[in-house]
Amino acid sequence: MEKVIVIGSGCAGWTAALYTARANLQPLVLTGKQPGGLLTTTSIVENYPGFPEGVDGYELMTRMQKQAERFGARASFGSVEAADFSRKPFTLTVDGEKVETQTVIIATGAGHRHLGVPGENLLETKGVTYCATCDGALPSFRNQPLVVVGGGDSACEEAIYLTRFGSAVHLIHRRDQLRASKIMAERALSNPKIKPVWDSAITEVLDVKQDKVTSVRLKNLKTGAESVLNCAGVFIAIGHVPNTGIFKGQIETDANGFIVPKRGTMTNVPGVFVAGDCADHVYRQAVTAAGSGCAAAIDAERFLAAQNQ
Ligand code: NAP
Repeated sequence: MEKVIVIGSGCAGWTAALYTARANLQPLVLTGKQPGGLLTTTSIVENYPGFPEGVDGYELMTRMQKQAERFGARASFGSVEAADFSRKPFTLTVDGEKVETQTVIIATGAGHRHLGVPGENLLETKGVTYCATCDGALPSFRNQPLVVVGGGDSACEEAIYLTRFGSAVHLIHRRDQLRASKIMAERALSNPKIKPVWDSAITEVLDVKQDKVTSVRLKNLKTGAESVLNCAGVFIAIGHVPNTGIFKGQIETDANGFIVPKRGTMTNVPGVFVAGDCADHVYRQAVTAAGSGCAAAIDAERFLAAQNQ
């Protein structure tokens, strides 16, 4: 039986593994289908402390894994299909095999909600991105018209951030009123570089033939009128989908599926802890995920120590 299983191998997962490994708990990390998590899909990470020149997202995650393994963490390239937290020890079904464990740290992260329009997937990392903080400063976006999609705080925040780089930022929203908090909405709409495009949806990202973003095809949802807007980048900020479906009915989540911690990082099930983006719809940064992974590891270690007294 395992002492600690960490589900997920992003910043939160590997940091939880590092700390539990250094506490001699030999954690088993189940990497999931995307080892290294969302960060491996971005290019240069410029806001992770300690890397003044920036660091490649994939490299950062590889380094985190190596660091945790150095102290005894073990990686298994498995995906959890089912979890039974109703009795102890907990049981996880991983690619058909059952594994028992005393504690679990859920660090399954969240995925970006996609628009689901033609061109979006094929042009991802070629102008389509889901993270202005990660990609906004790339040379290809400098002094170019950019597009942000969404009407929430994230879209406003991304649009404001992107005004540092783009020549103009077109904020495309499907309604004529932002969902964002008043202060964020006012800040965005009063910025002369941000140009709202109301009641509109992107119907296609162009141009797959050129293998880069050159424009978006728009439809006005009130009039039905179609148009093409030139841009070098499309920043999609229409919310996140936490990867928590397999825990449904056992671990308490909010209406959007984000896990709700109860005490520190402990969930409603004593012995099951949570870290990173699957419980965070506010900050969603690599460094905050790593910080919560550390906290979950410390909580798990203390929980085990109290159980074994
Ligand atoms: P959100 O509040 O859920 O907003 C998502 C936006 O995307 C909404 O405007 C929604 O339109 C739009 N949208 C959803 N699906 C769409 C689709 N398929 N096509 C086009 N548009 C679509 O998400 P968020 O902005 O990521 O914020 C999430 C949470 O984090 C919120 O609680 C927010 O306050 C918080 N947050 C706070 C800050 C801050 O305070 N600095 C920053 C970022 C996030 P509708 O409005 O029509 O539904």
